[in-house]
Amino acid sequence: TADQRWEMRTGETGDGARIVHLVDQSGNYAAEKMRVDFVANASHELRTPLASILGFIETLNEEAGEEPALRKRFLDVMFAEAQRMQRLVEDLISLSRIEAEKYRLPGDRLDLGELLEDVAAEIEAARSPRAENVAVTVEPGLPEVVGDEAQLSQLFHNLIGNAMKYGRPGTPVTVTLGLDRSGLLRLTVVDEGEGIAPQHIPRLTERFYRVDAGRSRSVGGTGLGLAIVKHIVERHRGRLDIASKVGIGTTVSVAIPAADAVAGTSTGAAVIK
Ligand code: ADP
Repeated sequence: TADQRWEMRTGETGDGARIVHLVDQSGNYAAEKMRVDFVANASHELRTPLASILGFIETLNEEAGEEPALRKRFLDVMFAEAQRMQRLVEDLISLSRIEAEKYRLPGDRLDLGELLEDVAAEIEAARSPRAENVAVTVEPGLPEVVGDEAQLSQLFHNLIGNAMKYGRPGTPVTVTLGLDRSGLLRLTVVDEGEGIAPQHIPRLTERFYRVDAGRSRSVGGTGLGLAIVKHIVERHRGRLDIASKVGIGTTVSVAIPAADAVAGTSTGAAVIK
């Protein structure tokens, strides 16, 4: 409301990182509003498949249970709905873990190229739809990064997964990892898909924000993939850029500093676009 005034308050986390809070006159944080929306959205996303599973169980218990073909069809739907709930719960757990570690710098030195090759092999082994369209190129001799292996692997999975999900069938998904002109390790994932209209781009990393919710669900999306990516990029002091042309395709790029560039710097803010 118009008479509501907010005050900026800076604080420190346990390990010395600085944080900024917006606080109203009675001392409530603006973050509280975001938390309430998030819980409401997450509950709603879980309620829909759960209601469907309960409905099918009820029907199976009655007449449909007798008929083998119908029973099989209902069980298949229940399985798909349960998988949807599982993906959502897994993503919610990832998101809260990553957020909890936000101010702790990742500690391991690792070879990002090797990790990307591993993820590409996993995608191929899982026989994911469109896996054969994915082409990965890693520049030789890249410097190491300081990172969290599980999180960076998830970042690769989410971005390549989106390109496979939203790219047109049969078109290539081109993944490259190299050094850019400013000495950052840069991952780019290019698809030839439907693209994203400019007004949506700044909001894609919000939790549960989707351009087309029906389409996202039908390809197995949870609406949390890019929110997770954003948090992982922030924790690695990197930068995320999304460029897209409707009807042509999308390019997502992530730049992460090399290990030697991170060593010796004090806490600094990540730039996210
Ligand atoms: P989802 O699980 O729905 O894919 P994400 O957080 O990964 O959620 O992405 C949010 C939304 O951004 C998607 O629902 C989709 O509308 C859009 N999007 C993400 N990646 C692409 C892409 N490569 N091409 C077109 N649209 C995309």
